[in-house]
Amino acid sequence: MIDISKERVSINCPDCKRSIKVTIGQVSKQASVRCNCGQSIQLVDDKGSNKKAIRDINKSFEDLERTFKKFGK
Ligand SMILES: [Zn+2]
Repeated sequence: MIDISKERVSINCPDCKRSIKVTIGQVSKQASVRCNCGQSIQLVDDKGSNKKAIRDINKSFEDLERTFKKFGK
């Protein structure tokens, strides 16, 4: 099954401006990540919008999968 929370997005380090890859799941959990330069970055999921988006998108994928399964029969 496709899990959108494992999709990667890029953020920029506030210190060295390097781009860092984080997963959408990490953002929704508001994890802290560390840049190669040693700067730690606290991910913020504004108003829980990423968490909601993950739910919505995962649900869409599930619906889509069900549709494909139907076509397969
Ligand atoms: Zn950095």
